[in-house]
Amino acid sequence: MPSQRLNIFELTFEELISFLNELGEPKFRAQQVWEWLYKKYVTEFAEMRNLPRHLIEKLEANAVIHSATIASEQHSSDGRTKKVLFQLPDDQYIETVLMRYDKRRTLCISTQAGCAMGCVFCATGQMGFFRNLTVSEIVAQVLCFAHELAQTDEHVTNIVMMGMGEPLHNYNNTLAAIDRLTDETGFNLGARKITISTVGLVPAIRRYADEQRQTPLAISLHAATDEERDKLIPINNRWPIAELMDTCRYYIEKTGRRLTFEWALISGENDTIEQARALGNLLHGMLCHVNLIPLNPTAGFSGGPSSKERVEAFQAELSHYGVSSTVRVRRGIDIQAGCGQLRDRVVSGQ
Ligand code: SAH
Ligand code: SF4
Repeated sequence: MPSQRLNIFELTFEELISFLNELGEPKFRAQQVWEWLYKKYVTEFAEMRNLPRHLIEKLEANAVIHSATIASEQHSSDGRTKKVLFQLPDDQYIETVLMRYDKRRTLCISTQAGCAMGCVFCATGQMGFFRNLTVSEIVAQVLCFAHELAQTDEHVTNIVMMGMGEPLHNYNNTLAAIDRLTDETGFNLGARKITISTVGLVPAIRRYADEQRQTPLAISLHAATDEERDKLIPINNRWPIAELMDTCRYYIEKTGRRLTFEWALISGENDTIEQARALGNLLHGMLCHVNLIPLNPTAGFSGGPSSKERVEAFQAELSHYGVSSTVRVRRGIDIQAGCGQLRDRVVSGQ
């Protein structure tokens, strides 16, 4: 019965050892299967060429490799950005984007189908929340791209959790997926090469700080006063800026790590000199960096991106407070590579 077969990507290495043990197989077989999955990215047990036939048959009878199913894909006009819409078994859709920089191959992955946070400028926020992704659904996005990149001898070098969903709202699966992807005997990506981006879930950030992990955190701040942030990010009502900043300081103190703050510049909204000053005051002296990203317009929000002049003025003001920042160009705007936008187009036929 296919429904009773176990999804092998849900298993940790220790669990894989026990599973194979139950099938009467020695431990070294677990290492072989693990490497086929996380180093060779196979999608069928039959491709595990160093396993005996009887074991492949046992695996096929008892387990399944739930690789990701591609529903649609798009390439940017410069060919350097590719966006894939994956279809999940229950007809949910999630997005993953590959961005090629000089040497880096950065994947932007999803952690939930939809998002419950309702940020007004965000295409995912506008669609609402469907469900958390499983560990295997988070990991399968990466393995699918890793498999494709391997054909041209390329590798995934960085991962940002900036696709659909709020990673810290799916805390356990997100962190288990990071553990899986950083496992040295498997996919072996450095923990520092993954970035978790969060809208600012205060208790989850504290919990994360206490875990003292190496994986960096980015905070989607987008406004420096409660009046402004309340308008853009509903959860600011629950955890206002002062509380969020206390938690950010706690994180830095606990981990000694630099925090990144994300700021989507919305014309005439949060790109004013007053906001830049308020932000400078908030971050002055803090171990942090700000990413300024001109807004990617979405169907459900009337705001537009700030002009080059406004972006430069904002950045110059911030530098007066000793706060470093980088202006990021949104990659792949021509393929709706902003968070949630491809799903929107395919599912609602826009
Ligand atoms: N939920 C997490 C991670 C996913 S969103 C978070 O909010 O941080 C990833 C980043 O894209 C966040 O910084 C988010 O604020 C930003 N973002 C969402 N919609 C955007 C848009 N239309 N233009 C620019 N940035 C956007
Ligand atoms: Fe969710 Fe992040 Fe979009 Fe906000 S910006 S709705 S937290 S995905």
